[in-house]
Amino acid sequence: MHYLDHAATTPVPQAVAQAMAEVLTAAYGNPSAQYTLGRQAKALVDESRAVIAKALQCRPEQIYFTSCGTEGDNWAVQAALYQNRRVGKHIITTATEHSAVLQCVKQLEQAGYPVTWLKPDSAGRITAQQVADALREDTALVSVMLVNNETGVQYPVEEIAALLKSRPALLHTDAVQGFLKVPFTAGSLGADYITISAHKIGGPKGIGALYIGGKAKNTKPVFYGGGQESGLRPGTEPTAQIIGFAKAAELRLDRLEEIRQHMASCRTYALARLQTIPDLRVIGAGTAPHILSVSLPGYPSQNIVSELSEKEIYISAGSACHRGKVSHVLSAMGLDKKTAAGTVRISFGPETALSDIDALYDALLEHKTARFPML
Ligand code: PLP
Repeated sequence: MHYLDHAATTPVPQAVAQAMAEVLTAAYGNPSAQYTLGRQAKALVDESRAVIAKALQCRPEQIYFTSCGTEGDNWAVQAALYQNRRVGKHIITTATEHSAVLQCVKQLEQAGYPVTWLKPDSAGRITAQQVADALREDTALVSVMLVNNETGVQYPVEEIAALLKSRPALLHTDAVQGFLKVPFTAGSLGADYITISAHKIGGPKGIGALYIGGKAKNTKPVFYGGGQESGLRPGTEPTAQIIGFAKAAELRLDRLEEIRQHMASCRTYALARLQTIPDLRVIGAGTAPHILSVSLPGYPSQNIVSELSEKEIYISAGSACHRGKVSHVLSAMGLDKKTAAGTVRISFGPETALSDIDALYDALLEHKTARFPML
């Protein structure tokens, strides 16, 4: 098997699964319970929060566990608009956000919130100047992702934060694809809300976190219930998932530079090999070490993905979240129909071997040789 879809999700290392199994079978107390088993579970949750805080270099009380990145994104958007309800309703975001922000903001737009959708250039880049030009007196929220999940392009979140420093507008960044992939800390980014998710870094699915700091205050809860997560995100803590998230982060933090360099060298190797395939195009000015977007113009990506799947080579057609549909990212970049249709995303992790990339190269070349392009 050649798994080259680490931006969609990642394998869970044995050590993470083991830590989770221990929580499920031995340390299974409810963290709210007063007896020892409960207190042990509470201590594990606190330790896990400290690990995630260390990874972001923030205070543990600024980390709130959520059920996933999608929840973190939705919460941040809603919380910012609630806090700034007297400032105004204007939202600035990009046309290339993940659906977790995009669909949330679209709903708000339908409900009467004015939205400025920033368009990327043909290489998928967004500039801080675009945000500066879009800012208004009534801008309540700017939501700009850190790393685009389809192209690997990094957006200038730090520069945008500097623009907003003395303004009431709050800044959210979806850092799901950036966390432990590109260097940043909560302080260096300067965003008020930062979304992260465990299953992109070797953790389990169904757990994420939202950093809340900076100008964010009196945060509106996601929903109402018990007092968990300081009353802002109630619900009995999913202890196994939380511990798995922290264990995965710890494993990556221990070898952070080595892993980053490994992913970057996989990307460089893949780029060098794939570019020898006639007509293959590299899509976007991506710099994240784990994502490479390429197109075989005229060869529909769904066919590529299913043919490769038969050889147990797993890559994705654009974004895994947009299966079967034309990617909103590629269309915002203005790619012509054939190039957009032929775009696939290849993504790497610490487990990727150069032999996986060799297998991919052979299969892509074979696909192109054996198939006819669409007209
Ligand atoms: N944001 C980005 C950039 C993503 O790539 C993803 C997942 O694909 C998400 C948000 C959603 O995260 P989750 O799957 O944890 O809901």
